[in-house]
Amino acid sequence: MLSERAKKIKPSPTLAIDSKAKALKASGYDVVNFGVGEPDFDTPDNIKEAAIRALRDGFTKYTPVGGIDPLKNAVIEKFKKDNGLSYEREEIIVSCGAKHSLYNIAQALYRPGDEVLIPSPYWVSYPDQVVLNDAVPVIVKTYEGDAFMLKPEALEAHITKKTRAVILNSPSNPTGLTYDRKTLEGIAEVALRHNLFVISDEIYEKLVYDGVEHVSIASLGNEIKKSTIVVNGLSKSHAMTGWRVGYAAGPKDVIKAMTNIQSQSTSNPNSIAQKAAVEALTGPQGFIDMMRKEFDARRKFLVSELNSIPGVKCIAPTGAFYVFPNVSGLYGKADGKPVSNSSDLALYLLEQANVALVPGEAFGDDNHIRLSYATSMENLRKGVERIREAFGRLL
Ligand SMILES: *Cc1c(COP(=O)(O)O)cnc(C)c1O
Repeated sequence: MLSERAKKIKPSPTLAIDSKAKALKASGYDVVNFGVGEPDFDTPDNIKEAAIRALRDGFTKYTPVGGIDPLKNAVIEKFKKDNGLSYEREEIIVSCGAKHSLYNIAQALYRPGDEVLIPSPYWVSYPDQVVLNDAVPVIVKTYEGDAFMLKPEALEAHITKKTRAVILNSPSNPTGLTYDRKTLEGIAEVALRHNLFVISDEIYEKLVYDGVEHVSIASLGNEIKKSTIVVNGLSKSHAMTGWRVGYAAGPKDVIKAMTNIQSQSTSNPNSIAQKAAVEALTGPQGFIDMMRKEFDARRKFLVSELNSIPGVKCIAPTGAFYVFPNVSGLYGKADGKPVSNSSDLALYLLEQANVALVPGEAFGDDNHIRLSYATSMENLRKGVERIREAFGRLL
Protein backbone atom coordinates (compact mmCIF):
# COMPACT_ATOMS: atom_id res chain seq x y z
CA MET A 1 0.00 0.00 0.00
CA LEU A 2 1.30 3.43 -0.93
CA SER A 3 0.89 6.58 1.12
CA GLU A 4 -2.11 8.85 0.64
CA ARG A 5 0.38 11.47 -0.44
CA ALA A 6 1.79 9.33 -3.23
CA LYS A 7 -1.70 8.47 -4.44
CA LYS A 8 -2.65 12.13 -4.79
CA ILE A 9 0.17 12.93 -7.22
CA LYS A 10 0.25 12.44 -10.97
CA PRO A 11 3.42 12.41 -13.06
CA SER A 12 4.26 15.67 -14.82
CA PRO A 13 2.03 15.68 -17.93
CA THR A 14 4.58 17.62 -19.95
CA LEU A 15 7.14 14.89 -19.39
CA ALA A 16 4.49 12.26 -20.21
CA ILE A 17 3.85 13.72 -23.70
CA ASP A 18 7.56 14.02 -24.23
CA SER A 19 8.13 10.34 -23.49
CA LYS A 20 5.25 9.31 -25.76
CA ALA A 21 6.74 11.38 -28.58
CA LYS A 22 10.19 9.89 -27.95
CA ALA A 23 8.72 6.37 -28.01
CA LEU A 24 7.07 7.04 -31.40
CA LYS A 25 10.35 8.43 -32.66
CA ALA A 26 12.24 5.39 -31.43
CA SER A 27 9.91 3.13 -33.39
CA GLY A 28 10.79 4.95 -36.59
CA TYR A 29 8.18 7.73 -36.86
CA ASP A 30 9.36 11.19 -37.91
CA VAL A 31 7.81 13.12 -35.02
CA VAL A 32 8.06 16.91 -34.75
CA ASN A 33 8.26 17.59 -31.05
CA PHE A 34 6.81 20.88 -29.81
CA GLY A 35 6.57 19.41 -26.34
CA VAL A 36 10.04 20.10 -25.02
CA GLY A 37 10.58 22.35 -22.03
CA GLU A 38 14.29 22.99 -22.38
CA PRO A 39 16.57 25.02 -24.68
CA ASP A 40 17.77 23.09 -27.73
CA PHE A 41 21.18 24.75 -27.36
CA ASP A 42 24.18 23.03 -25.81
CA THR A 43 25.68 24.36 -22.57
CA PRO A 44 28.41 26.88 -23.52
CA ASP A 45 31.98 25.56 -23.62
CA ASN A 46 33.36 27.91 -20.95
CA ILE A 47 30.86 26.39 -18.50
CA LYS A 48 31.75 22.84 -19.46
CA GLU A 49 35.44 23.68 -19.08
CA ALA A 50 34.82 24.95 -15.56
CA ALA A 51 33.21 21.61 -14.72
CA ILE A 52 36.12 19.69 -16.18
CA ARG A 53 38.52 21.82 -14.13
CA ALA A 54 36.50 21.14 -10.99
CA LEU A 55 36.73 17.41 -11.65
CA ARG A 56 40.48 17.52 -12.33
CA ASP A 57 40.99 19.58 -9.16
CA GLY A 58 39.18 16.93 -7.17
CA PHE A 59 36.28 19.18 -6.28
CA THR A 60 34.22 16.05 -5.81
CA LYS A 61 33.22 16.05 -2.16
CA TYR A 62 30.31 17.31 -0.09
CA THR A 63 29.96 21.08 -0.04
CA PRO A 64 27.99 23.27 2.37
CA VAL A 65 24.32 22.23 2.10
CA GLY A 66 23.01 25.52 0.69
CA GLY A 67 25.82 26.00 -1.84
CA ILE A 68 29.45 27.14 -1.88
CA ASP A 69 30.20 30.76 -0.99
CA PRO A 70 31.59 31.69 -4.44
CA LEU A 71 28.30 30.59 -5.99
CA LYS A 72 26.19 32.42 -3.40
CA ASN A 73 28.34 35.51 -4.07
CA ALA A 74 27.75 35.15 -7.80
CA VAL A 75 24.01 34.86 -7.19
CA ILE A 76 24.10 37.97 -4.97
CA GLU A 77 25.90 39.87 -7.74
CA LYS A 78 23.32 38.70 -10.27
CA PHE A 79 20.45 40.00 -8.15
CA LYS A 80 22.22 43.31 -7.68
CA LYS A 81 23.04 43.77 -11.36
CA ASP A 82 19.85 42.42 -12.97
CA ASN A 83 17.17 43.25 -10.42
CA GLY A 84 18.59 46.00 -8.21
CA LEU A 85 18.09 43.69 -5.23
CA SER A 86 20.61 43.32 -2.44
CA TYR A 87 20.80 40.13 -0.42
CA GLU A 88 23.21 38.70 2.12
CA ARG A 89 24.55 35.17 1.90
CA GLU A 90 22.14 34.03 4.64
CA GLU A 91 19.30 35.06 2.33
CA ILE A 92 20.39 32.73 -0.51
CA ILE A 93 20.08 28.98 -1.02
CA VAL A 94 21.34 26.96 -3.95
CA SER A 95 19.30 23.82 -4.69
CA CYS A 96 19.22 20.98 -7.22
CA GLY A 97 17.31 23.07 -9.75
CA ALA A 98 14.71 25.81 -9.37
CA LYS A 99 12.08 23.10 -9.01
CA HIS A 100 13.89 21.87 -5.92
CA SER A 101 14.03 25.38 -4.48
CA LEU A 102 10.27 25.64 -5.05
CA TYR A 103 9.76 22.33 -3.29
CA ASN A 104 11.87 23.43 -0.34
CA ILE A 105 9.74 26.57 -0.09
CA ALA A 106 6.58 24.47 -0.03
CA GLN A 107 8.05 22.32 2.74
CA ALA A 108 9.20 25.32 4.73
CA LEU A 109 6.05 27.46 4.50
CA TYR A 110 2.86 25.47 4.16
CA ARG A 111 0.87 24.28 7.18
CA PRO A 112 -1.90 21.68 6.83
CA GLY A 113 -4.94 23.29 5.23
CA ASP A 114 -3.14 26.46 4.15
CA GLU A 115 -4.40 27.80 0.86
CA VAL A 116 -1.96 28.71 -1.87
CA LEU A 117 -3.17 30.85 -4.75
CA ILE A 118 -2.04 29.75 -8.18
CA PRO A 119 -3.02 31.76 -11.26
CA SER A 120 -4.02 29.53 -14.18
CA PRO A 121 -2.70 28.72 -16.73
CA TYR A 122 0.02 27.49 -14.36
CA TRP A 123 3.24 25.54 -14.54
CA VAL A 124 2.34 21.91 -13.91
CA SER A 125 4.36 21.38 -10.73
CA TYR A 126 2.87 24.20 -8.65
CA PRO A 127 -0.43 22.55 -7.63
CA ASP A 128 1.18 19.17 -7.01
CA GLN A 129 3.92 20.62 -4.83
CA VAL A 130 1.22 22.30 -2.73
CA VAL A 131 -0.73 19.04 -2.43
CA LEU A 132 2.42 17.10 -1.50
CA ASN A 133 2.81 19.43 1.44
CA ASP A 134 -0.74 19.04 2.80
CA ALA A 135 -1.84 22.49 1.67
CA VAL A 136 -4.65 23.34 -0.76
CA PRO A 137 -4.02 24.80 -4.22
CA VAL A 138 -6.60 27.47 -5.04
CA ILE A 139 -6.63 28.12 -8.77
CA VAL A 140 -7.33 31.69 -9.86
CA LYS A 141 -8.32 31.91 -13.51
CA THR A 142 -6.68 34.55 -15.66
CA TYR A 143 -7.87 35.71 -19.06
CA GLU A 144 -6.40 35.97 -22.51
CA GLY A 145 -7.78 39.51 -22.78
CA ASP A 146 -5.64 40.46 -19.74
CA ALA A 147 -2.57 38.84 -21.33
CA PHE A 148 -3.07 36.05 -18.77
CA MET A 149 -1.96 38.29 -15.92
CA LEU A 150 -3.41 37.86 -12.47
CA LYS A 151 -5.33 41.03 -11.69
CA PRO A 152 -4.91 42.38 -8.14
CA GLU A 153 -8.72 42.37 -7.70
CA ALA A 154 -8.93 38.70 -8.68
CA LEU A 155 -6.16 37.90 -6.21
CA GLU A 156 -7.95 39.75 -3.44
CA ALA A 157 -11.28 38.06 -4.23
CA HIS A 158 -9.74 34.63 -3.57
CA ILE A 159 -8.07 35.45 -0.26
CA THR A 160 -9.45 33.79 2.88
CA LYS A 161 -8.18 33.50 6.45
CA LYS A 162 -6.29 30.40 5.35
CA THR A 163 -4.44 31.96 2.41
CA ARG A 164 -0.71 31.65 2.93
CA ALA A 165 0.95 32.48 -0.37
CA VAL A 166 0.57 33.30 -4.05
CA ILE A 167 2.80 31.83 -6.75
CA LEU A 168 3.76 34.08 -9.64
CA ASN A 169 5.64 33.08 -12.78
CA SER A 170 6.87 35.80 -15.10
CA PRO A 171 7.76 35.31 -17.90
CA SER A 172 5.27 32.48 -17.82
CA ASN A 173 5.35 28.88 -18.76
CA PRO A 174 2.98 28.04 -20.53
CA THR A 175 1.63 31.38 -21.82
CA GLY A 176 4.95 33.07 -22.62
CA LEU A 177 3.62 36.33 -21.21
CA THR A 178 5.39 38.76 -18.92
CA TYR A 179 3.88 40.78 -16.06
CA ASP A 180 4.13 44.57 -16.28
CA ARG A 181 5.29 46.72 -13.41
CA LYS A 182 1.90 48.25 -12.69
CA THR A 183 0.16 44.89 -12.28
CA LEU A 184 2.97 43.68 -10.03
CA GLU A 185 2.62 46.81 -7.90
CA GLY A 186 -1.07 46.04 -7.49
CA ILE A 187 -0.36 42.43 -6.55
CA ALA A 188 2.32 43.50 -4.07
CA GLU A 189 -0.09 45.91 -2.41
CA VAL A 190 -2.73 43.20 -1.96
CA ALA A 191 -0.18 40.63 -0.76
CA LEU A 192 1.19 43.03 1.85
CA ARG A 193 -2.23 44.06 3.09
CA HIS A 194 -3.17 40.40 3.62
CA ASN A 195 0.18 39.26 4.92
CA LEU A 196 0.82 36.74 2.14
CA PHE A 197 4.09 35.31 0.96
CA VAL A 198 4.82 35.85 -2.72
CA ILE A 199 6.72 33.06 -4.43
CA SER A 200 8.12 34.50 -7.63
CA ASP A 201 9.44 32.03 -10.19
CA GLU A 202 11.67 34.06 -12.53
CA ILE A 203 13.42 31.23 -14.34
CA TYR A 204 12.71 32.78 -17.78
CA GLU A 205 13.94 36.23 -16.78
CA LYS A 206 16.59 36.35 -19.52
CA LEU A 207 14.24 35.34 -22.31
CA VAL A 208 12.14 38.44 -23.03
CA TYR A 209 11.31 40.00 -26.40
CA ASP A 210 9.90 43.12 -28.05
CA GLY A 211 11.81 45.36 -25.65
CA VAL A 212 9.80 44.09 -22.68
CA GLU A 213 11.45 44.61 -19.30
CA HIS A 214 11.50 41.81 -16.74
CA VAL A 215 10.47 43.15 -13.35
CA SER A 216 11.02 41.19 -10.15
CA ILE A 217 8.18 41.86 -7.72
CA ALA A 218 10.73 41.79 -4.89
CA SER A 219 12.38 44.88 -6.36
CA LEU A 220 9.26 47.03 -5.86
CA GLY A 221 10.06 48.00 -2.29
CA ASN A 222 11.59 46.89 0.95
CA GLU A 223 8.32 45.63 2.43
CA ILE A 224 7.40 43.39 -0.49
CA LYS A 225 10.99 42.15 -0.67
CA LYS A 226 10.61 40.86 2.91
CA SER A 227 7.51 38.85 1.91
CA THR A 228 8.88 37.47 -1.34
CA ILE A 229 10.96 34.44 -2.14
CA VAL A 230 12.48 34.82 -5.60
CA VAL A 231 13.31 31.61 -7.44
CA ASN A 232 15.65 31.47 -10.39
CA GLY A 233 18.23 29.15 -11.91
CA LEU A 234 20.53 28.32 -14.79
CA SER A 235 18.47 25.71 -16.61
CA LYS A 236 16.86 28.08 -19.06
CA SER A 237 19.26 31.04 -19.13
CA HIS A 238 22.40 28.97 -19.73
CA ALA A 239 20.94 25.82 -21.29
CA MET A 240 21.84 23.79 -18.20
CA THR A 241 18.71 21.74 -17.50
CA GLY A 242 20.64 18.55 -16.83
CA TRP A 243 23.11 20.08 -14.40
CA ARG A 244 20.44 20.73 -11.76
CA VAL A 245 21.34 24.09 -10.28
CA GLY A 246 18.73 26.59 -9.14
CA TYR A 247 18.52 29.08 -6.32
CA ALA A 248 16.21 31.12 -4.16
CA ALA A 249 16.50 34.41 -2.27
CA GLY A 250 14.31 35.52 0.59
CA PRO A 251 13.98 36.24 4.29
CA LYS A 252 16.67 34.65 6.45
CA ASP A 253 14.33 32.50 8.53
CA VAL A 254 12.69 31.02 5.43
CA ILE A 255 16.02 30.36 3.73
CA LYS A 256 17.37 28.78 6.91
CA ALA A 257 14.36 26.45 7.13
CA MET A 258 14.76 25.55 3.45
CA THR A 259 18.43 24.79 4.05
CA ASN A 260 17.61 22.55 7.03
CA ILE A 261 15.08 20.69 4.90
CA GLN A 262 17.62 20.34 2.10
CA SER A 263 20.16 19.03 4.62
CA GLN A 264 17.79 16.15 5.42
CA SER A 265 16.93 15.33 1.82
CA THR A 266 19.46 15.96 -0.95
CA SER A 267 22.32 17.65 0.95
CA ASN A 268 24.30 19.98 -1.30
CA PRO A 269 23.66 20.36 -5.04
CA ASN A 270 26.27 18.57 -7.16
CA SER A 271 29.71 20.03 -6.40
CA ILE A 272 30.91 20.04 -10.01
CA ALA A 273 27.72 21.66 -11.26
CA GLN A 274 28.14 24.39 -8.63
CA LYS A 275 31.58 25.26 -10.03
CA ALA A 276 30.09 25.31 -13.51
CA ALA A 277 27.33 27.59 -12.23
CA VAL A 278 29.88 30.08 -10.89
CA GLU A 279 31.36 30.28 -14.38
CA ALA A 280 27.88 30.56 -15.93
CA LEU A 281 27.01 33.56 -13.74
CA THR A 282 30.37 35.33 -13.73
CA GLY A 283 31.84 34.42 -17.14
CA PRO A 284 30.96 35.89 -20.56
CA GLN A 285 27.19 36.29 -21.07
CA GLY A 286 27.13 36.57 -24.88
CA PHE A 287 25.54 33.14 -25.19
CA ILE A 288 22.27 34.37 -23.68
CA ASP A 289 21.80 37.07 -26.27
CA MET A 290 22.66 34.71 -29.12
CA MET A 291 20.05 32.23 -27.85
CA ARG A 292 17.49 34.95 -27.20
CA LYS A 293 17.80 36.32 -30.74
CA GLU A 294 17.33 32.88 -32.22
CA PHE A 295 14.27 32.24 -30.03
CA ASP A 296 12.90 35.62 -31.03
CA ALA A 297 13.08 34.82 -34.75
CA ARG A 298 11.35 31.49 -34.17
CA ARG A 299 8.70 33.13 -31.99
CA LYS A 300 7.81 35.62 -34.71
CA PHE A 301 7.66 32.91 -37.35
CA LEU A 302 5.48 30.61 -35.24
CA VAL A 303 3.01 33.27 -34.13
CA SER A 304 2.42 34.54 -37.65
CA GLU A 305 2.10 31.03 -39.11
CA LEU A 306 -0.30 29.85 -36.40
CA ASN A 307 -2.50 32.89 -36.84
CA SER A 308 -2.81 32.08 -40.53
CA ILE A 309 -4.36 28.67 -39.73
CA PRO A 310 -8.18 28.73 -39.61
CA GLY A 311 -9.50 27.98 -36.12
CA VAL A 312 -6.29 29.10 -34.37
CA LYS A 313 -5.77 32.38 -32.49
CA CYS A 314 -2.36 33.07 -31.03
CA ILE A 315 -1.36 36.15 -29.04
CA ALA A 316 2.31 37.05 -29.37
CA PRO A 317 4.17 35.99 -26.23
CA THR A 318 6.77 38.36 -24.77
CA GLY A 319 8.92 35.84 -22.92
CA ALA A 320 10.11 32.26 -22.40
CA PHE A 321 10.02 29.89 -25.41
CA TYR A 322 6.38 28.88 -25.67
CA VAL A 323 3.32 29.94 -27.61
CA PHE A 324 -0.13 29.22 -26.21
CA PRO A 325 -2.66 29.48 -29.04
CA ASN A 326 -6.40 29.29 -28.51
CA VAL A 327 -7.74 26.32 -30.47
CA SER A 328 -11.27 26.20 -29.07
CA GLY A 329 -12.53 27.16 -32.55
CA LEU A 330 -11.74 23.58 -33.58
CA TYR A 331 -13.71 21.90 -30.83
CA GLY A 332 -16.75 20.02 -32.03
CA LYS A 333 -15.14 19.41 -35.43
CA ALA A 334 -14.31 15.92 -36.61
CA ASP A 335 -11.98 13.98 -38.86
CA GLY A 336 -13.53 10.62 -38.05
CA LYS A 337 -13.60 10.93 -34.26
CA PRO A 338 -14.75 14.37 -33.00
CA VAL A 339 -12.30 16.61 -31.17
CA SER A 340 -13.85 18.10 -28.06
CA ASN A 341 -10.98 19.33 -25.89
CA SER A 342 -7.25 20.08 -25.81
CA SER A 343 -6.29 16.49 -24.98
CA ASP A 344 -8.27 15.13 -27.92
CA LEU A 345 -6.58 17.69 -30.13
CA ALA A 346 -3.08 16.84 -28.88
CA LEU A 347 -3.73 13.13 -29.36
CA TYR A 348 -5.17 13.77 -32.83
CA LEU A 349 -2.04 15.70 -33.83
CA LEU A 350 0.28 13.07 -32.42
CA GLU A 351 -1.48 10.15 -34.09
CA GLN A 352 -2.60 11.75 -37.37
CA ALA A 353 0.17 14.29 -38.02
CA ASN A 354 3.14 13.07 -35.96
CA VAL A 355 3.26 16.37 -34.09
CA ALA A 356 3.74 16.36 -30.31
CA LEU A 357 2.59 19.23 -28.11
CA VAL A 358 1.04 19.66 -24.68
CA PRO A 359 -2.72 20.08 -24.19
CA GLY A 360 -3.66 23.22 -22.27
CA GLU A 361 -5.61 21.06 -19.85
CA ALA A 362 -2.28 20.12 -18.25
CA PHE A 363 -1.87 23.78 -17.30
CA GLY A 364 -5.48 24.28 -16.19
CA ASP A 365 -6.76 25.81 -19.44
CA ASP A 366 -8.56 23.56 -21.86
CA ASN A 367 -9.05 26.12 -24.66
CA HIS A 368 -5.37 26.23 -25.55
CA ILE A 369 -2.40 24.09 -26.49
CA ARG A 370 1.26 24.77 -25.72
CA LEU A 371 3.96 24.65 -28.34
CA SER A 372 7.59 25.04 -27.40
CA TYR A 373 9.84 26.66 -30.00
CA ALA A 374 12.99 25.27 -28.45
CA THR A 375 13.54 23.34 -31.65
CA SER A 376 15.09 24.16 -35.02
CA MET A 377 13.48 26.50 -37.56
CA GLU A 378 13.37 23.55 -39.94
CA ASN A 379 11.31 21.55 -37.44
CA LEU A 380 9.04 24.52 -36.82
CA ARG A 381 8.36 24.82 -40.56
CA LYS A 382 7.66 21.13 -40.95
CA GLY A 383 5.51 20.98 -37.81
CA VAL A 384 3.43 24.01 -38.69
CA GLU A 385 2.63 22.63 -42.15
CA ARG A 386 1.54 19.35 -40.60
CA ILE A 387 -0.69 21.19 -38.15
CA ARG A 388 -2.19 23.30 -40.94
CA GLU A 389 -2.94 20.20 -42.96
CA ALA A 390 -4.39 18.23 -40.01
CA PHE A 391 -6.55 21.13 -38.79
CA GLY A 392 -7.72 21.62 -42.40
CA ARG A 393 -9.04 18.06 -42.35
CA LEU A 394 -10.99 18.85 -39.18
CA LEU A 395 -12.78 21.87 -40.59
C1 LIG B 1 11.86 24.78 -16.29
C2 LIG B 1 11.09 25.42 -15.22
C3 LIG B 1 11.49 25.35 -13.87
C4 LIG B 1 12.52 24.36 -13.38
O1 LIG B 1 13.78 24.64 -13.62
P1 LIG B 1 14.94 23.72 -13.02
O2 LIG B 1 15.91 24.72 -12.53
O3 LIG B 1 15.44 22.91 -14.15
O4 LIG B 1 14.40 22.89 -11.91
C5 LIG B 1 10.82 26.10 -12.93
N1 LIG B 1 9.77 26.85 -13.27
C6 LIG B 1 9.31 26.91 -14.53
C7 LIG B 1 8.14 27.75 -14.82
C8 LIG B 1 9.95 26.18 -15.54
O5 LIG B 1 9.47 26.21 -16.79
